[in-house]
Amino acid sequence: MQSPVNAEQILNEKFGYSAFRNQQAEIIETLAAGGDVLALMPTGGGKSLCYQIPALLRAGTGIVISPLIALMQDQVDALNQLDIRAAFLNSTLDPSQQQQIEQQLLLNELDLLYLAPERLLTEHTLTLLQRVKPALFAIDEAHCVSQWGHDFRKEYQQLSILHQRFPQVPRIALTATADRRTRQEIAEQLELQRARTFVNSFDRPNIRYTIDAGQNSRDRFWHFLQQEHPEDAGIVYCLSRRKVEEISEWLNRNGRSALPYHAGLPAETRSRHQQRFLREDGLIIVATIAFGMGIDKPDVRFVAHLNLPKSVEAYYQETGRAGRDGQPADAWMNYGLQDVITLRQFIHATDADEQYKRIAHHKLEAMLGLCELTSCRRQALLAYFGESLSQPCGNCDNCLSPPQTWDATEATRKALSCVYRTNQRFGVSYLIDVLTGKADERIHRNQHHRLSTFGIGKELHPSQWRTLFRQLVSLGHLDTDLEGHGALRLTQKCRSLLRGEATLHLRLQPRREKKRKTETSRTQLSSSQKPLYEALRQLRLQISKQQSVPPYVIFHDSTLLEMVEQRPLDLQQMRFITGVGERKLALYGQLFLDLIGQHKPLERTDPVLQSGS
Ligand code: ADP
Ligand code: ZN
Repeated sequence: MQSPVNAEQILNEKFGYSAFRNQQAEIIETLAAGGDVLALMPTGGGKSLCYQIPALLRAGTGIVISPLIALMQDQVDALNQLDIRAAFLNSTLDPSQQQQIEQQLLLNELDLLYLAPERLLTEHTLTLLQRVKPALFAIDEAHCVSQWGHDFRKEYQQLSILHQRFPQVPRIALTATADRRTRQEIAEQLELQRARTFVNSFDRPNIRYTIDAGQNSRDRFWHFLQQEHPEDAGIVYCLSRRKVEEISEWLNRNGRSALPYHAGLPAETRSRHQQRFLREDGLIIVATIAFGMGIDKPDVRFVAHLNLPKSVEAYYQETGRAGRDGQPADAWMNYGLQDVITLRQFIHATDADEQYKRIAHHKLEAMLGLCELTSCRRQALLAYFGESLSQPCGNCDNCLSPPQTWDATEATRKALSCVYRTNQRFGVSYLIDVLTGKADERIHRNQHHRLSTFGIGKELHPSQWRTLFRQLVSLGHLDTDLEGHGALRLTQKCRSLLRGEATLHLRLQPRREKKRKTETSRTQLSSSQKPLYEALRQLRLQISKQQSVPPYVIFHDSTLLEMVEQRPLDLQQMRFITGVGERKLALYGQLFLDLIGQHKPLERTDPVLQSGS
């Protein structure tokens, strides 16, 4: 085979993919021709190819700057599988290994070299790079330059040095962060103002969004998990370390394999858990937000939030870790009033200045708005990032089973006046006791059984009142005290409701999620296809263990699924399967073909003949 000469050929022969996605082709073309690029693409959009292919097209080594040292090994392994000469330089290597890689670089034996920013910025590395001629610089996770973001890295701000010292070498900055302000900061800090900017749609059509506010969060989560993802890998986010530990234990007790991950665990444990998550099948990681940046695992089938994220940005970023391989995936969330109270207190308790707090409150309100929405979640989510989707998506909870609403005006007035009559000093449970006329000792002591609002709310069940209070807080008609007692207070916004000048329609809480109408690809497999799929997964696992790489480095789930559906008979047919390039065909093609050959599809034979023979 001749060495590939153009981008399509590389895509096809090396990577085994048939067509470019989104704006990959234009980005590659620009970079290959020596131009600078700023690329904004959602997670799973296919950013890596945008610099990997130009690095192969141009003379010299492509230098990739990434803050994620822990992931470099896997990235390099994956490239080596494709016969692409890649290496990394970071603190995990010993001096002789480092020297060897530097030697390879000098001899022009590398297509791609991954570096952490602090390594790149040493004079030693910069001088080294000046002796070779880099093909390009790729600055991954470029939003790390932003001081406002949560992934800020001070070294990233010094990366403009690349432009100064290597003015001829094209640069590409990549990020999955969508907002305009970060984009501007990247361009300024990295001196990329003149770069061609590519903004892809941030829609992730394969992710199904569900936001559930029902009580008994654990039950509901368990129901979701067993119904939709009985054996899948996923990430569960919780707000506190304690809850992370609890949920992880609870999952294990119930027969699911789960591992905790939070900042309170020793670094060594965290890294072990992360490695296991990447390498094993069907593991669940339960984590605080400390987990996840740059998690490259393509087959995370669900991301579940058991607490409310603090902003839409955080929600989008965290849910974005599901379904990078483009297969159906779930973003499932359950939250309650306590989350709102806790997050508000967090914001209040920080030492940050007033402006910061105001922004943080706004962000939380936007998140709550998304939660209480009765229309398409995806439309709202994309609109938040300045993108418009003309039709409802058909793949979120609100589209799939449109929520019922009810006229909550009267009930709201009762709830608000109860808050007022009890002097805005009590939390939800107490208020509900007053409304439903529960005459306990505390109520008597406070003389609240004499109030006009005592027992005026018997028509609703306490859990319905709870939902209503949560919605009123979410919508800003009630506020929680900031001292942390959970007492509810009236806001400016609720006045028109109290005075009877406004009406309020709220979503009714569905009792239980309905079973999904379309199923994930794995469960779509017919029962006759499943044994083959499982056998292919076993083979993949075996190979990946031999090479100590994660299974998806050998083949993605989607590739295995395609094998099950297509049943290739020979190497030529195997080559048409997405994700099977020349190299993987040579290495694994026959092994997988043999296995497929052993699993004959069930013929539709006459059952009588079959049992009679
Ligand atoms: P990102 O870094 O943008 O999150 P990746 O570069 O990891 O995304 O790509 C996500 C997945 O999609 C990877 O498994 C990658 O191999 C695959 N992919 C990328 N481009 C294509 C393409 N043109 N056709 C098929 N699969 C692709
Ligand atoms: Zn929708």
